[in-house]
Formats: sequence, C-alpha cells, structure tokens
Amino acid sequence: MKCAICFEEIFLPYYKSSSCECKIYYHLNCIEKWHKISKTCVICKKIDNSSLNNLRKIHNKIYELIVFVIIFLLIILLVFVKIMIY
Ligand SMILES: [Zn+2]
Ligand SMILES: [Zn+2]
Repeated sequence: MKCAICFEEIFLPYYKSSSCECKIYYHLNCIEKWHKISKTCVICKKIDNSSLNNLRKIHNKIYELIVFVIIFLLIILLVFVKIMIY
C-alpha cells in the first residue's frame, strides 16, 4: 500500500478518501498538508469533504496507546532483568 501523495509505503495509520470512488490511501500527515492547499481528491479532483479532525483524534489515541504499551513492556523487562540478576 503506497501513499498517493508521497508514494512511500504506508503502515499505520492511514487514511482513505471517502468522498469519491478512488481506491487510494494517504499518510494522515500527507493528506493534512494536501487539504491545506486543496480540498480535492489527489487523483480525480472531486471535492473531498471528509473531516480530518476526527481522524486526527483517532490517530493521536493510537499513538498514545502504542507509547503506553511500549512503556509498559519496558517496565516488565526491567522487572524481569532485576529478577534475573538477584
Ligand atoms: Zn505520504
Ligand atoms: Zn477521487
């Protein structure tokens, strides 16, 4: 899956245009930059009126969750290392 704006691979999270039939995906950062310049679909130039604000909130929640899980795993690893040493 490649971004329709920067042509680089997309992992998580991604955004699919919902206001047209194009099967395209973007990085959220790329589509936010694009939306500041133009409110049209990158491919077919139809007006893209999808709301990015909710998506940005979900995006931030996913990142918070990932950071939380990483911190949690680090703590578990630290505890495990301490147990192994003593
Ligand atoms: Zn991109
Ligand atoms: Zn389109």
